[in-house]
Amino acid sequence: MLKVDNITFNYTKSPVLKDISFKVEEGENLAIIGESGSGKSTLLKLIYGEFDLNKGHVFWKDTEVLGPKHNLVVGYDFMKYVSQEFDLMPFITVEENIGKFLSNFFPKDKKERTSELLEVVELTEFAKTKVKTLSGGQKQRVALARALAKQPEIILLDEPFSHIDNFKKQSLRRSVFKYLKQKNITCIVATHDKEDVLGFADNMIVLNENKIEAHDSPEFLYYNPKTPLIASFFGEFNLINDDIIYSHQLHVVKKSNLKVKVSQSYFKGIQYLIEANLNCEKVYFEHEFELKKGELIFLEIKKLQ
Ligand code: ADP
Ligand code: MG
Repeated sequence: MLKVDNITFNYTKSPVLKDISFKVEEGENLAIIGESGSGKSTLLKLIYGEFDLNKGHVFWKDTEVLGPKHNLVVGYDFMKYVSQEFDLMPFITVEENIGKFLSNFFPKDKKERTSELLEVVELTEFAKTKVKTLSGGQKQRVALARALAKQPEIILLDEPFSHIDNFKKQSLRRSVFKYLKQKNITCIVATHDKEDVLGFADNMIVLNENKIEAHDSPEFLYYNPKTPLIASFFGEFNLINDDIIYSHQLHVVKKSNLKVKVSQSYFKGIQYLIEANLNCEKVYFEHEFELKKGELIFLEIKKLQ
């Protein structure tokens, strides 16, 4: 188990994280979400032991993770960290980068392991390509594979798919998260993309103003978004009489006491997102087809189910 026990940290005077505590079970996938600047990357770096804590402790099982003041070399064998700035060796091939930390005493094992990892990150065809010629997204995948090479017990991923295009993203996410579950590798992912979380994370932590605003399963937080920040993570929402109502909860009906005037329709693929005015406030809802600007319609709120 990873135990983050009451940690506080600041780069300068004002704290970035204050009195943060949580636990992660072995094999769990935990997502850390929050707006840009909320401290997601800092939290991962603290768990990795990159900085000294102002207060508190981090433990992986019985080992306390210590910062640079106590450790000549940052990091531990049981933990890998893939930062937002993946530092690879540009002048050697993808395969060589991944195999860099694998033993040369077992060439057959090394080859097998490398090709397994190339498959996980869907880079098999680029095995012999020099890293410097790869795109940002491809480099990010090499960094992922390299972190997995020695099979850590816990892996920290900082926005791991942020440079990867939408064509590849979906299948790559499935492949990587499936692999981590299969191998029972504990995983902490910092992200602002709900697609990295839903369907994969067992639990999520919402960071806001130096604190943990929520810590629960994605399902629970989706059904019980107690703040607008939490709701906004799951999609477009409205505040109607102080209640959080997702845009897909609003339906057009013949008559109701929610009368709105359409102001804009946005094509979103399977449906349109409609913007309308409700007593000078904007409301957003989903609808099968485009609605005319100025049209008056009635809405009904459906319960989440
Ligand atoms: P996130 O990953 O959620 O975007 P970060 O952890 O990168 O957030 O940053 C949290 C806060 O700490 C921000 O206000 C950022 O400007 C500040 N910060 C991050 N890195 C440093 C640093 N090396 N020195 C000083 N301030 C930093
Ligand atoms: Mg970050």
